[in-house]
Amino acid sequence: MSVQTQSCNNTARMSDQNLMEKIVSLAKRRGFVFPASEIYGGIAGFWDYGPYGVELVNNLKQLWWRKVVQERDNIFGVDGAIIQNPKLWEASGHVAGFTDPLVDCKNCGARHRADHLADTDSTDIKELTELLKDVVCPTCGKKTLMPPRTYNMMMKTWVGPVEDNSSIAYLRPETAGSIFTNFKNVVDSMHPKLPFGIAQVGKAFRNEIAPRDFIFRVREFEQMEMQYFISPDTQTEVYESWRHFAWDFMTKTVGVREENLQWHEHAENERAHYAAAAHDIYFKFPHGFKELWGTHNRTNFDLTSHAKASGQDLGYLDEETKERFIPYVIESSVGVSRMLLAVLTDAYREDTMGEEVRTYLALAPKIAPVKAMVSPLLKNKPELVAKAREVRAELQKVHPAIAWDDNGNIGKRYRRQDEIGTPFCITIDFDTLGETLDLKGTVTLRNRDTGTQERLSVAEVADRIRTAIE
Ligand code: ATP
Repeated sequence: MSVQTQSCNNTARMSDQNLMEKIVSLAKRRGFVFPASEIYGGIAGFWDYGPYGVELVNNLKQLWWRKVVQERDNIFGVDGAIIQNPKLWEASGHVAGFTDPLVDCKNCGARHRADHLADTDSTDIKELTELLKDVVCPTCGKKTLMPPRTYNMMMKTWVGPVEDNSSIAYLRPETAGSIFTNFKNVVDSMHPKLPFGIAQVGKAFRNEIAPRDFIFRVREFEQMEMQYFISPDTQTEVYESWRHFAWDFMTKTVGVREENLQWHEHAENERAHYAAAAHDIYFKFPHGFKELWGTHNRTNFDLTSHAKASGQDLGYLDEETKERFIPYVIESSVGVSRMLLAVLTDAYREDTMGEEVRTYLALAPKIAPVKAMVSPLLKNKPELVAKAREVRAELQKVHPAIAWDDNGNIGKRYRRQDEIGTPFCITIDFDTLGETLDLKGTVTLRNRDTGTQERLSVAEVADRIRTAIE
C-alpha cells in the first residue's frame, strides 16, 4: 500500500567533461575508487578499490564467471600465475611487438600516444609521422613534437637474487597467455571434446604511455578472458555467438542501456596480423565512445606459436574423424575497471526530489554493492532499534548485503544510499510496533529510483529484494 509519493523530474543533463569529474568525485566520496598511495601523491595509472568498489567489482566478476564458466559444461576456469616463463611472451610476440606508438615533446617533455594524438586507429609509424607533422603538443601548445617511435609496454622484473638479463621476467600483459599454455593440461585432465573453452579472471600489467581517463586506461588492471577452442569450419557462427554474448551480458545481465553501446568492427589495417575478424563493443564513456570489450577470431596462431616454441604437441585429436589438428580460437576479452567505469557512467543520475537536487546510481540490484538498507526511525528508541535489527536479520536470509544505518535523519540516510546505488531502504517506525493497529508488523519500503514509499510486511519486502536480485 502506497503511503507517500515524492516526485522526481527528468534526469538533468550534464556536460561530458563534467560527468567524468562528478563520477570521480562520487567514487572517492562514497568509497568506490581511491587513487593508489594517495597520501604520497598517488602514482599515475594505479587505483585502489574502496569498500563499495570492491563489492561492485566482485559482483561483476562473479556474474561473468557464472555466465561463462558455471552455467556451461564445456568451459573450464583456470587461475594462472602473474609471472610465467618469459619464453611464453617471446612466443606470443609480446616481447618483440607489444608496442604502442609514442611521441615526445622536445619543449615540455610531455609524452603522448601518437595514434591518439593523430586521431587514427593506425599504428604505422610512417603514416603517423605524416599525420602529426603539423600537430602541436597538447600540453604546451608548441609545435615541438619529435618523430613518433614505438615503445614496449611490458613491465619487467627479475626473478631470484641476480638482476641480470638471464633473470628478467615479465608481469603478464594479458591473462590469455597462461590459458594457451594450459591448453594441454586442461585437455589431459578434463578430457573435453571440441568445442570447449578456458576462462580466466586476473591481473594484467601494461606500462601505458599515457594512463588517463580515471580507471579507463591504467597500468595495472584485471581482465576477464575466455578462449574458445573450435574446429575451423565453425568459426563464423561461434564468433557471432560470442560477440553477441558480450552485448547481452552488458545489456541484460549488467543492465546498461543499449544506447550507450555500439559495435566497432576492426578494419583490416587495425587487426592483429593473425586475426581473421575482430569486433569491439564501444561504450559511451564520459570521454567518448571507446573500446570496452573485444571479441576476436585469433585463428590457430597462438597454439601454433606455442607448439613451435615449446616443442610440445598442442594438437587436438578428433576421435570421430581421427583427424589431428590445431584448433582455432575465438577470444572474448574485457577489462574489469573499464566495465566498472561503464557501469558507473551508465548509472550516474541527477534529479530534483522535493526542493533538492539529488545524485543517485541507478545500478541494477543484481550488481549493487548493497541490496537494501534497514534503519530505525529514531536511534535512541531501543524498541525501534531492536525491531529494526530483527528485520535486518530476516532480510539477510535473502542476501547478506543488507546495510544498517542509523546516523543522521532519515532524509540524509536515503541520500547516502542513493549515491551508493542501494535499490531499497527500509524504515522501522512506531507503526511497525503497532501504534496504528492495522499497520503493525509493516515497514516502509523506499524505492531508490522513484523515491516512492510503500507500506509492506517484512515477508513482502523480502520477496521484493529476492525478485530484484534474481
Ligand atoms: P586499447 O586499444 O584501449 O589499449 P587493447 O585493444 O590493447 O585496448 P586488449 O589487448 O584487446 O585491449 O585487451 C582486452 C581488454 O582489456 C580491453 O577491451 C579493455 O577492456 C581492457 N584493457 C586493455 N588495456 C587496458 C588498460 N590499460 N586499462 C584498463 N583496461 C584495459
